Amino acid sequence: MSQLPADQPHAIPPRRLVLVGPPGVGKGTMSALLKERLGLRTLSSGEIFRHEIEMQTDLGRMAKRYIDHGELVPNGVTIEMMSKQLHDPQIKQSGFVLDGFPRTVKQAEALDEVLFELEQGLDKVVSLEVPQEVIVQRLTGRIGCTKCGEIYHSKNKPPKREGVCDRCNSPLFVREDDRPETIRERIRVFWETTAPVIEYYAKTSTLQRVDASHGPENTYAAICS
Ligand SMILES: [Zn+2]
Repeated sequence: MSQLPADQPHAIPPRRLVLVGPPGVGKGTMSALLKERLGLRTLSSGEIFRHEIEMQTDLGRMAKRYIDHGELVPNGVTIEMMSKQLHDPQIKQSGFVLDGFPRTVKQAEALDEVLFELEQGLDKVVSLEVPQEVIVQRLTGRIGCTKCGEIYHSKNKPPKREGVCDRCNSPLFVREDDRPETIRERIRVFWETTAPVIEYYAKTSTLQRVDASHGPENTYAAICS
C-alpha cells in the first residue's frame, strides 16, 4: 500500500533526456534549470564545438574548418564529439540533457548506438513547442557575444554595460541569426530537417510534446511529471 496521498504524485524525474525544439523555444533556459535542479550534465552541440575548438583537438580543428566557412559541421564529426562526451563515466552518474542534438535522423540513430554500447537508454525526448510569432518576438532583440557565446536580450537580459559582454568584456553583436526574417527562415529549416527526428522518436515511444508558451516553470513541471 502506498503511503502517499493520491493528490501528491511522486514522479521520478527523468535523468537522460533530449530536448528538441526550434531556435528561441527556450531549450537553453530549460537545460539550465534541469542542470541546476536535477544535477544533469547539459550537452549542447554548440558548447561542445567551442570546447573542442578551444582545446585544439583534432575534432575541434575539423569542426572549425566547416564553421569558418559558414557550413554545417558534418554528422560524423558531431556524432564523434557527442559520443566522446557521453563516454565520460561521470555522465553515467549525473545523467544528461542533450540540447541541439540529435538534429537529423542519422544523428538520432547514432545516438541510439552509443547509448546501447553504454547500456543506457533515453528516459524521454521532449519536443518543446511554441507558436512561430511568439518565437520571433522573443528572439528579436537578442545580442550575442562572439567570443564566449553568451546571449543577452535588449529588454529581458541586458548586459551591465551596453554593447559589452559581462563575462568576457568582448563586444556584443546582433547576430545575423537573430534578425526577424532570418528567424522565420531558421524556424522553417528547423521543421524541415528536424520533423523527421520527432517522428523517429514518436515511434520509439519516448516522445513528450510540451507546450512551452507558458513560461519556464510550467514547462519544467511538465517535463518532470
Ligand atoms: Zn563573452
